[in-house]
Amino acid sequence: MGDRNAPGAIQVVTTPDYEVMVIGAHPDDDDFAASATSALWAKQGKKVVWVIMTDGTEGGEVPSTPDAEFMLLREQEQRMAAEMIGVQAVEFLRFPDGHLVNSEATRKAVVRLIRKYRPRVVITHDPTQLFFAPDPNEEPNATGYLNNPDHRATGNIVVDALFPSIGNPRAYRELLAEGLLPYRVHELYLFGTREVNTYIDVTETIELKGQALKCHASQFDSDSDISVRVRERSADVAKEAKKKQGLDMQYAEAFRRIKLHIPPEPKEEAPTEVK
Ligand SMILES: [Zn+2]
Repeated sequence: MGDRNAPGAIQVVTTPDYEVMVIGAHPDDDDFAASATSALWAKQGKKVVWVIMTDGTEGGEVPSTPDAEFMLLREQEQRMAAEMIGVQAVEFLRFPDGHLVNSEATRKAVVRLIRKYRPRVVITHDPTQLFFAPDPNEEPNATGYLNNPDHRATGNIVVDALFPSIGNPRAYRELLAEGLLPYRVHELYLFGTREVNTYIDVTETIELKGQALKCHASQFDSDSDISVRVRERSADVAKEAKKKQGLDMQYAEAFRRIKLHIPPEPKEEAPTEVK
């Protein structure tokens, strides 16, 4: 843009504060997709924030439970899980579960949070994944499944917030008064994707992932084998990492990684001349 040095121009911030923001549609999505990676990075001293887009009130089987009660229960479970993982902050946006849409209100809410935390990496749902379905000719006994519309909506909201609004000084100008300056996210990681290009070795933190998922007691029976299932799934992902990229991992989480901003290399000092 030509008016970058004009009076009143605002520079886009490119220095992150948090390492990563994970944005999931429902309480437990961040846990399923990226809790072992979150735990690993948190152990390395990096700052992690989790965002949950909806109130989670459709994640149950009992229609008579009041929404407000169920929402608070699920948020409490999510907080316990996040604490287990070492997440520093959790934000609940409380949009109605099952009805999430890519709208002015939802995009603005995400712009506000990303400008507030300035994560280097944003992790969210792959919005392009309509369904996951094996070819019945190849796997006649396997069923496919349809991706939850809230997952796709979350992915779309985040992608549309990332560009152009988050880094645009003229977008959502009312946020400037809250001190929320335009910012540039460095990398986007997508989960729930068929286009994986990045595997994270989470052998060190897979145990925590199982424990975090167990905190979501409203979603899994107390005698559920959720931590066993999580290990099996992560072990399968690790096998895929070996097959596709020759990587040796016991447990892995998988993402499609997209670089959006590469910070300039710090300038090296000119070598002193030797005579
Ligand atoms: Zn979900």
